[in-house]
Amino acid sequence: MSSSRPAPPPPEPLGPLVDAHTHLDACGAKDGDDVRAIVDRAAAVGVTAVVTIADDLDSARWVTEAADWDPRVYAAVALHPTRANALTDEAKTVIERLVGHPRVVAVGETGLDNYWPGRLDGCASPGEQRDAFAWHIDLAKRTGKPLMIHNRDADADVLDVLRAEGAPPTVIFHCFSSDAEMARTCVDAGWVLSLSGTVSFRNARALHEAAAVIPAGQLLVETDAPFLTPHPYRGAPNEPYCLPYTVRALADIVDRPAADVAKETSATAGRVYGFAVNSS
Ligand SMILES: [Zn+2]
Ligand SMILES: [Zn+2]
Repeated sequence: MSSSRPAPPPPEPLGPLVDAHTHLDACGAKDGDDVRAIVDRAAAVGVTAVVTIADDLDSARWVTEAADWDPRVYAAVALHPTRANALTDEAKTVIERLVGHPRVVAVGETGLDNYWPGRLDGCASPGEQRDAFAWHIDLAKRTGKPLMIHNRDADADVLDVLRAEGAPPTVIFHCFSSDAEMARTCVDAGWVLSLSGTVSFRNARALHEAAAVIPAGQLLVETDAPFLTPHPYRGAPNEPYCLPYTVRALADIVDRPAADVAKETSATAGRVYGFAVNSS
């Protein structure tokens, strides 16, 4: 990702932390050495595991390889909602095969994006997104893996599809950016909410209120790197090593010790994704 701003300096270490949702390929990683370099930088500040997310078919193949290259990397595969119109029978076969990989810990990111249709050439329509979302929900149920949801400006529609199809046992809302009412609805349903750098943004008051209603056992943290770099580095390139900035901002907002938030979110990540979290 091109960016005019320099990379943020490494934060003070805080851990153990799990980056619940990142895109190592979009961060520029191509091979095992690149992956190791990014994950080494993360581990140096306490981020001991990362889940790298696919958004198209090439990425789905790549993330499973990345998870094989480095034991600190796990993967999730799906077609991103904006690419839902590429979900052919052949694509379904590929995704179904890759989801069976033992280091694939979720079906995602899938869901609904009401922002990009009409703004992005070739973006899947709301109807195509809905069909693909329903298919991924069924896949999560068939494989027993968590469903990881991308929701952009689509609260009511996402809830509608989840209710119509029936939610799988584990549902994760990545980059949760909605208000306290939506957070309460999700928490009451037993779903897990993952907060990204957007929670550190000073003007995100509704999201700050939402953060306060999420119990520790239903809270994850993520970078969504290379996007959504936390305050005060907005616009600079993001990487998993930047996660402590977000966790410290979140700890301030909920008035809890950052070390506790780190410990609890890592335990929750280990539980929902089904892997052991090592302290650094
Ligand atoms: Zn997303
Ligand atoms: Zn993402």
